Amino acid sequence: MENKFQIYNTLTKKVEQFIPNEDGKVAMYTCGPTVYHYAHIGNLRSYIMEDLLEKTLRYIGYDVKRVMNITDVGHLSSDADTGEDKMLKGAKREHKSVMEIAKFYTDAFFGDCDKLNIKTPDVVEPATNCIEEFIRVIEGLLEKGYAYENGGNIYFDTSKLEDYYVFSNQNEKELLVGVREDVDEDENKRNKSDFVLWFTKSKFDEQELKWESPWGIGYPGWHIECSCISMKHLGEYMDIHCGGVDNIFPHHTNEVAQSEAYLGHKWCNYWFHVHHLNDKSGKMSKSKGDFLTVSLLESKNYDPIVYRLFCLQSHYRKPLEFSYENLDNMAAAYDKLVKKIGSLNKEGEINQAKFAEYREQFESALCNDLNSATAITVLYDVLKSDLSDAEKYALAESFDEVLSLNLMTAHAAKEKDNGVDAEMERYILAKIEERKAAKKEKDFAKADAIRSELLEKGIVLEDTREGVKWKKA
Ligand code: AMP
Ligand code: ZN
Repeated sequence: MENKFQIYNTLTKKVEQFIPNEDGKVAMYTCGPTVYHYAHIGNLRSYIMEDLLEKTLRYIGYDVKRVMNITDVGHLSSDADTGEDKMLKGAKREHKSVMEIAKFYTDAFFGDCDKLNIKTPDVVEPATNCIEEFIRVIEGLLEKGYAYENGGNIYFDTSKLEDYYVFSNQNEKELLVGVREDVDEDENKRNKSDFVLWFTKSKFDEQELKWESPWGIGYPGWHIECSCISMKHLGEYMDIHCGGVDNIFPHHTNEVAQSEAYLGHKWCNYWFHVHHLNDKSGKMSKSKGDFLTVSLLESKNYDPIVYRLFCLQSHYRKPLEFSYENLDNMAAAYDKLVKKIGSLNKEGEINQAKFAEYREQFESALCNDLNSATAITVLYDVLKSDLSDAEKYALAESFDEVLSLNLMTAHAAKEKDNGVDAEMERYILAKIEERKAAKKEKDFAKADAIRSELLEKGIVLEDTREGVKWKKA
């Protein structure tokens, strides 16, 4: 098939034509959540944009297989293999077992994803399911001389690689300072950048989940999880691997190192990274404790889909600053948008040539490094155009396969709250317009007559600074 999708590749630092290994098929991998706490809306920004990527690829015709891990062991407080296991920290905080915490927050994560219309990947694999795979790959790395045992742990030897820092031209020292602040250096490492593949010795004896291994009872490092889980389900070659920008180093750097050392060839061609959601104090992060969740937004009466729209309105490669003011603006825009779509009369002929022309514009925005804001502008252009209602409706319905903004159902759902059906709402909106025109022509008698007519039908009009609003009497 035609490969028209262009995407920025962190590996080459260029926007490139996306050409999968197998024609028409895409093998896609996503780093899943570490399930020791709720996902914050920053994490969910990454998953929304990855969902958009997957849906775009499907929309333009690819058959996508997407795999995601669930990190339920091995992710230590510092990405540089030191500190306490995040899962254990969560378990202690809540006086529960690690598996209870994992189950609770995995369910909570998928609950949030549902509310944001994030599709569940084809394969979701918890790390604790794959201990055998981890051990097999680590054994392979030891055999090939890429790993060594020291002090009971197994380490990856980064000095064996020609180019360990595949994603950056940053110098080694800068990167190491960045991740190792306030952290004791592990004396067992031969090189500062080496990382743990399997732990048997750690500073905390009470690690709850441990498994037998050829090197003693222990548990896997975080990075090996993603390499093994992707190989298990996608084979030796992968097309595109996703995560937030904080995953680039050390997590993805280490994934590339160990996967390619083990396989003996290039592993993944395209790397997709989503920039962070920040708040006033900087990057939103779980470890800060004070973070925004989907439930918190709901408790403040926001529809979670408004947050999805907020994310789609900005490019995934730019940092995004969260504020309630911006979210309020988005909520107002969303309301107008779904009201407009809800008032369309969907019956009628579709001119296929016009349909194809707008669909092409929508696709080309997304194929241009996933420019979702421009894709949404195409939707607005459609609604403003001289297309028929039926054509507008059909296009909005098609675009929503990718945008997933409940464009076709949100209004009907709100109607239930409003207590009027779509036809009545169309009628009310038309009458409001008619009244506006009458007032403009200073025909106040007509304007009053319209108000009275609506009142008889049980609808009250209110003139506010933001315009005319209506409600049921
Ligand atoms: P974690 O559950 O911490 O392993 O993170 C899950 C995903 O969220 C990873 O892909 C991270 O890179 C990403 N992530 C973490 N913090 C943010 C943030 N503030 N904005 C966007 N993505 C983030
Ligand atoms: Zn990962």
